[in-house]
Amino acid sequence: ASKNSGRNRFAWFDMSMERELQARNELEVGLRGAIPRQEIVPYFEQQIDLTTGRLGGFEMLARWEHPQRGLIGPEIFIPIAEETGMIADLSLSIMRQAFLAAKDWDPALSISVNISPWQLKDAWLAQKIIKVLTETGFPATRLEVEITESSLFDNLALAQSIVGSLKNQGIRLALDDFGTGYSSLAHLRALPFDRIKIDKSFIMSINDNAESAAIVNAITRLGDSLNLPITAEGIEDAVTEERLRALGCSKGQGYLYGRPMSIANTRRLLAEKRLLLQPGAQKAARKE
Ligand code: C2E
Ligand code: MG
Ligand code: MG
Ligand code: MG
Repeated sequence: ASKNSGRNRFAWFDMSMERELQARNELEVGLRGAIPRQEIVPYFEQQIDLTTGRLGGFEMLARWEHPQRGLIGPEIFIPIAEETGMIADLSLSIMRQAFLAAKDWDPALSISVNISPWQLKDAWLAQKIIKVLTETGFPATRLEVEITESSLFDNLALAQSIVGSLKNQGIRLALDDFGTGYSSLAHLRALPFDRIKIDKSFIMSINDNAESAAIVNAITRLGDSLNLPITAEGIEDAVTEERLRALGCSKGQGYLYGRPMSIANTRRLLAEKRLLLQPGAQKAARKE
């Protein structure tokens, strides 16, 4: 049929490519304005201390509150921000919003932030993060930086120097999505990690896939021998939670505890849990 003729097929192919490029271009242009308008906002996912069952802190996750399209997830816009050099501004902008929001949270609560491989090529990254901490008054010791294994590839010496500056301030370092991507045990020695996060793909299949269970088992033992605490991400049910607790994982995150929340909803949760500072206490905490 003429529909399947080469010429038509290519004409269709060209059009769909063009549409895709156009959509991407629109996102890129939109993103450029969205960062200074603070449409890119931090959401917060609870991190639970599995030994006590208590809330220990949050992982900050980027969201785009798009005025027309609604909420857009990071898998859509983070790659564009990386390729166009906007990731640094984006990342510092949501950190600033998060640290300001955390001013009246219980001072025991930590925040983990994701740092992209591209940011580890910026020799001034540590100084930029420390500046945001200083300006917002958020203590460095409550901050954890998560990096994925693939980030370690490009320029290890620079990554080591950035990480050294961060750790000198008391910022902790976590290896994110462990077990996936360019996994190598050598990475565990390349940088001074304080924690390993097991990728959610293993956790989510632990109950019906023997290999996943074996891998999670092995990673927790590795953590034991290296003296590195483990976070399990992607916990969706109580059976999985119990298994991970039994394996000795110190922290857990996942939909079992709730979806990532906006600043306002995080505040509501903390009010319910009595983890918001009273106005007086906040002033006192600041004076210290
Ligand atoms: P990640 O750092 O590994 O974050 C965990 C992702 O798993 C989040 O997706 C979270 O919402 C999702 N998740 C958590 N618990 C569960 C669960 O129980 N079940 C399922 N199905 N999913 C769960 P999200 O927010 O879409 O983020 C995806 C990735 O985007 C993150 O993976 C991180 O690599 C990246 N990302 C997010 N925010 C930032 C950011 O500010 N900067 C950079 N560079 N990357 C970011
Ligand atoms: Mg992460
Ligand atoms: Mg992860
Ligand atoms: Mg991930």
